[in-house]
Amino acid sequence: MEQIQNIYCVGRNYRLHAAELGNDVPTRPMIFDKPTHALAEAVGNEIELPGTRGEVHYEAELVLHIARPYEAGATLGQMVDKIALGIDFTLRDVQSELKKSGHPWLLAKGFKNSAILTPFRAFPGVDVLSSTDFSLLKNGEQVQCGNIGDVIFDMMTIISYIAENFGLDRGDIIYTGTPAGVGPIADGDVMTLVWGEEKWGHFTARMK
Ligand code: ZN
Repeated sequence: MEQIQNIYCVGRNYRLHAAELGNDVPTRPMIFDKPTHALAEAVGNEIELPGTRGEVHYEAELVLHIARPYEAGATLGQMVDKIALGIDFTLRDVQSELKKSGHPWLLAKGFKNSAILTPFRAFPGVDVLSSTDFSLLKNGEQVQCGNIGDVIFDMMTIISYIAENFGLDRGDIIYTGTPAGVGPIADGDVMTLVWGEEKWGHFTARMK
C-alpha cells in the first residue's frame, strides 16, 4: 500500500445512520481522525480485532484518496485521484461511554486494524461515483448498502471543510461516512466490500 498520510473520517453523514444510533443530524461536517497504525488492507486475509472490549461494529464507507494540496475552486476530479471501499470499525460500547463523559473518540475509533481498506482504484468520475451503490456483505449476505448521492454533506463540502480546518494534501484519505445497517462482527465472519457488482476486497475477522 502506498504511504498514507492523514486518515480523516466523517461521522453521521447519512441521515438513516444518524437516526439508527439516536443522533441528531449535524449542521456541519463532524470530522474525526485515526492513527495510520489503524490501517489494514482487505485482501483475502485474516484481520485481528479486539474481542474483549465490547461490541465491534462495522461501518462500510467510500474512501477518497487525495491527489494534491487543496485549492479553493478545485473540482472533485482534481482533488481525488483514487477511491477505495473501507470499514471504519468502532468499539460501540466504548464509544457510548466516551460520548456520555464527553471524552474524545480515539479509544473507540483508533485501535489497530480499525481502518480497513480495499486496494485503491482510479477515480471513476463524478457521474459513476453518484450512480453506483456500494455494499457490505457479512458471510455472503448484504448488511449495508449506500450511495454517495445520499450523504448530508457532499464530497467537495467535506474536502474544503477538512482542508480549511486541518489541512489536506496528497496521500491523505477520507472515510466519507456510513449508511444505515451498522452492526456487530463476530469471530470468523467474512466481510466483503462491493462496488456495484464488483467485489473489491474481503477478509475474515479474528476476535482476540
Ligand atoms: Zn464511520
